[in-house]
Amino acid sequence: MNLIDGKKISLELQETIAAEVKKLKADGFKTPHLAAILVGSDGGSETYVASKIAACERVGFNSTLIRHPEYVTKEKLLQSIHELNNNPDVDGFIVQLPLPRHINEHKVIESILPTKDVDGFHPMNIGRMVLNLPCYVSATPYGIVHLLDKYKVETAGKHCVVIGRSHIVGSPLSILLAKNTPLGNCTVTLCHSKTVDLKSHTLKADILICALGSPDFVTADMVKDGVVIIDVGTTRVESTETKSGYKLKGDVKFDEVAPKCSLITPVPGGVGPMTIASLLRNTLLAAKKEMY
Ligand code: NAP
Repeated sequence: MNLIDGKKISLELQETIAAEVKKLKADGFKTPHLAAILVGSDGGSETYVASKIAACERVGFNSTLIRHPEYVTKEKLLQSIHELNNNPDVDGFIVQLPLPRHINEHKVIESILPTKDVDGFHPMNIGRMVLNLPCYVSATPYGIVHLLDKYKVETAGKHCVVIGRSHIVGSPLSILLAKNTPLGNCTVTLCHSKTVDLKSHTLKADILICALGSPDFVTADMVKDGVVIIDVGTTRVESTETKSGYKLKGDVKFDEVAPKCSLITPVPGGVGPMTIASLLRNTLLAAKKEMY
């Protein structure tokens, strides 16, 4: 078994981005600028946004954090988005999800200018991704494909099973991996909570992507020897081992599953760091106006 070191690959990608930013600035171009809107004070969202802002600093981007209280009105939130859409200094921005229940997530995402939607969640970017047109590919799926590429995992003709069909991870990833592209050409099975006899599918996987958000869900009896596993799950569970009182747990029962794998991502240190690097990459592309 070998570990897929997402932290290392993410840092490499960030170094490449930092070098490009340095060159852009030396050539007289403006500093790339990522903005983030954070609603409420959910612990997980606070942590994710803080990591994104810190990553911006590392690669030499400017960043702006706009905070709204949990009870913000839809109108106020849309006004913030409108301002960022029209701010020429902001190249791209994200609205950290999830949003409070009283706000319609789709309405919010659709109000983001597709050219500034560096999370790649806007229907325009998802549609363009499906059609193989230039677009911002959402950060987590891009990060996963990049990891498979870096670890030279052959995808063509392989059977890839994805557990989870969310709009931000499972569905776009299943499309990317099935495409007729060098990092695609998998035969993909997309599983979800209504899948009957999930194990009969996972046992056939050459590549297994676990994105359901259920700690320790995938056990050794569910996978075949030599499988490549990407564990996307990051659930915060209480822990007496950490100062914060919680730790992140993946969807895979790592200790018993890892010995059967040829490659596996740890949690943390696998997919998570790649998501941030991919977001920075999209922002750089936005700053260079290379997508649209
Ligand atoms: P989500 O929107 O809650 O979707 C979960 C998916 O898993 C759904 O499609 C659901 O099926 C399916 N599912 C749930 N229980 C299942 C079961 N017992 N068997 C088969 N399928 C099942 O989650 P998400 O936003 O995609 O996130 C998934 C996990 O990835 C979470 O832990 C999240 O924190 C993590 N995540 C990590 C990163 C990162 O950067 N590391 C980024 C994004 C998400 P239905 O559609 O039928 O309900």
